[in-house]
Amino acid sequence: MTDLKFAPIACAFLMVCCAPVSPSGGSGKLDYWGNRPGPQGFGTVIIDAGHGGHDSGAVSRHTGQREKDLTLDLAKRLQSELGSSFRTVMVRTDDRFVDLDDRVTFANRYPDAILVSLHFNSGAPGTRGPETYYWRVDSHGLAVRCHSAMKSLASDSSSRKMVRRRLRLTRNPEIPCLLLEGGYLSNSAESRTISSSEYRQKLARNIASAIRAQAASGDNGTGPKPPFIKSPPSRPTDAADS
Ligand SMILES: [Zn+2]
Repeated sequence: MTDLKFAPIACAFLMVCCAPVSPSGGSGKLDYWGNRPGPQGFGTVIIDAGHGGHDSGAVSRHTGQREKDLTLDLAKRLQSELGSSFRTVMVRTDDRFVDLDDRVTFANRYPDAILVSLHFNSGAPGTRGPETYYWRVDSHGLAVRCHSAMKSLASDSSSRKMVRRRLRLTRNPEIPCLLLEGGYLSNSAESRTISSSEYRQKLARNIASAIRAQAASGDNGTGPKPPFIKSPPSRPTDAADS
């Protein structure tokens, strides 16, 4: 999760559709604050490959891999793993920059959808493990499922947890939304794990399973919901962002 440059660059969004829209969306009436139960029966998954273009995101000094390439790779694998179960919409399918606010605007065109933003992390050399960022109450259950799905692949007893943080991609969309960090590129061992296409395929498979479980069961079995926190939208001027 590295800082983005916020230059307003016009972008063209790419869409890839694999299945018809389900008419039976379970997200319910839009709630500006996202204070509602998690989605069930949704028909569309918006897959956001983090970074792109001049914004490379994190770069592994161990493998030389760039976050923007890995997120796009993972996004395509996730789309493939979701198959025809959902309509999938890709925010980007090539190496281009998309402003965070434009990603939010794009996501808001799909009221019967969830948004999953894919990233890889950077931090202290010893830090490792997947992380899941969410903010809204309606995104908690999906966050629990996706975090558990990613952690089950961790090669050690990683202590990374779900993080409730108000980011532009966790607070501002009008649909349930998550930001997933698939591990630390700054950690030597984990960076090498992430460089394996087999690992990225497993990561995509597990995230797809979590999304399917949420669509089938909603928040059932994901534990108590967090308290509602009224907050303004996250802005580029906020200190932390994805
Ligand atoms: Zn990132």
